[in-house]
Amino acid sequence: MDHAGLIEIARAARERAYAPYSRFKVGAALLARSGRVYAGCNVENASYPAGICAERCAVAKAVSEGESEFSAIAVVGDTEGPCAPCGICRQVLAEFGTDIDVVMANLKGDVKVVRVEDLLPGAFTGRDMSPTAGGGTREG
Ligand SMILES: [Zn+2]
Repeated sequence: MDHAGLIEIARAARERAYAPYSRFKVGAALLARSGRVYAGCNVENASYPAGICAERCAVAKAVSEGESEFSAIAVVGDTEGPCAPCGICRQVLAEFGTDIDVVMANLKGDVKVVRVEDLLPGAFTGRDMSPTAGGGTREG
């Protein structure tokens, strides 16, 4: 699955977004190293903080299916420039690898590809915790 394919899946997922409050629909497509792709969309709630972004929706779907290693995620929104993940999503992605490609795109066809480490330099990860505290499971 190349970046263009991920963007198309993210665009389709965006159409399914539940965003009655912001009307800002976002779609995501997360590529696991297994080759499987998990789509996600933002799901808002009347209790605003209960809502979830498209990227974390895709991560939750993938992890619940047994995935924990990812190579890329596409994010599509109707933004002026390529749609960037929010800070919380950057942190969540960093949990699974700072080397994940983030394919940011918009409806106009603008695309920018960066890595999680570029979006969240110096990220706090499980490696920062002492081994006795758990320290996460993913290596470097
Ligand atoms: Zn987010």
